[in-house]
Amino acid sequence: MEAMSERMENKKSRGRYDFSASVRRQIAERAGYQCSFPGCNRRTTGIGANGQYVSHSGYAAHIYSAASNGPRGQGGLTPEELHSADNGIWLCGRHAKLVDNHQGSAYPPEVLHSYKALHESRVALEHERLFPPIGWLHEFSVGQNPLFVSGQRFQFAKLNLLYGMNGTGKTALIEWITGFFDPERFSHWMTVQSLPIQVRMSVLNPKLQQLSVTASGGDAAYEIDGSPCAFVPLGFKVIQPCRSTIACGDHIEWLSRALGLPKAVIRGLVQEANRFPHARAANLRFERNPGDGVEVLRLDMPERPPGVTLNSLSGGEEAGVVLELATAAARLSGRYCPTLLVLEEIPSVFVDGFFDTYSHHLLDPVNQFQTLMSLPNRGLDLGNVQWNGWQVIHTHGQPPELKFT
Ligand SMILES: [Zn+2]
Repeated sequence: MEAMSERMENKKSRGRYDFSASVRRQIAERAGYQCSFPGCNRRTTGIGANGQYVSHSGYAAHIYSAASNGPRGQGGLTPEELHSADNGIWLCGRHAKLVDNHQGSAYPPEVLHSYKALHESRVALEHERLFPPIGWLHEFSVGQNPLFVSGQRFQFAKLNLLYGMNGTGKTALIEWITGFFDPERFSHWMTVQSLPIQVRMSVLNPKLQQLSVTASGGDAAYEIDGSPCAFVPLGFKVIQPCRSTIACGDHIEWLSRALGLPKAVIRGLVQEANRFPHARAANLRFERNPGDGVEVLRLDMPERPPGVTLNSLSGGEEAGVVLELATAAARLSGRYCPTLLVLEEIPSVFVDGFFDTYSHHLLDPVNQFQTLMSLPNRGLDLGNVQWNGWQVIHTHGQPPELKFT
């Protein structure tokens, strides 16, 4: 590292914010001296000459650019933020070069943030002697289809936001993506009359695998790495709470419907949610009504009296509780199996501070899953959303010429 980093340092010029040696070491140590690029994990330290030297080959690459004309812009960061460890990702030489190719256009800051979060979560878990399965949705692209201009693609980050007016294909994208792992989600695109749909997705499992599905004439043909496969037998789990919750006197029943999970798992999920230190809703517990014996969920929430019941919360607060439990389910699942949390137009997103509060939760290293959220255009401050680590994928236009960019 030293030789290469010094070469990089020699490029130092006015307006650049390079990392100090101690920040560089901090970035390397947090990465376990391994490349953070998904699927690489190359060790960046090794045995040097003479039995006493250590050879180093890693780079502390900038997420937002060190130079004002650098590949990824400076994202409005202060000089302190630009040269803090938060703005660095540890990469091997090959991947440091790759992410800066073509002015860094293929690897925007939010993608690098998510690579870093994924890698750090793995390092943290290995440090605790837990060895999670590594799985990651990498890239999605559309071929022939009735809605979108074909040939478009995007790379997944840890947090992904589909953002566009109603009728711009957000739900279709979610169904096509999740349909790889659950053909039911794809099923209504597979009617005999509908136009053929071809979509492709690559996943790291942990090596890169190419999945494709062609749906036409009521049938779906899947392929993995070019070989036909009746279905995709990869263990990716999708957690997707319902878009709207129908309240119900029995809160276990209510939450079971809201989360799309069996009643038998709700109690366990509540305990898992209570173990997460950053949850806004705390101390969740079920208590029986003295009168009718029905179980209600009580919890503590900021600006509410302790022990408030689920049914007395506002719609946004209630959706927040569902979101905490969905996150708990995804967190549990992600510990054992690659997991995608899908949040389709969840109303709590419009509660003040959603992105400031929940982005940190979702990026927390213990949350080893990817999130795919969709929202209609509602004048969000997208700069703030991106700063909170979200990749924003805009959907726009009219079918069959829809675009995602
Ligand atoms: Zn690498």
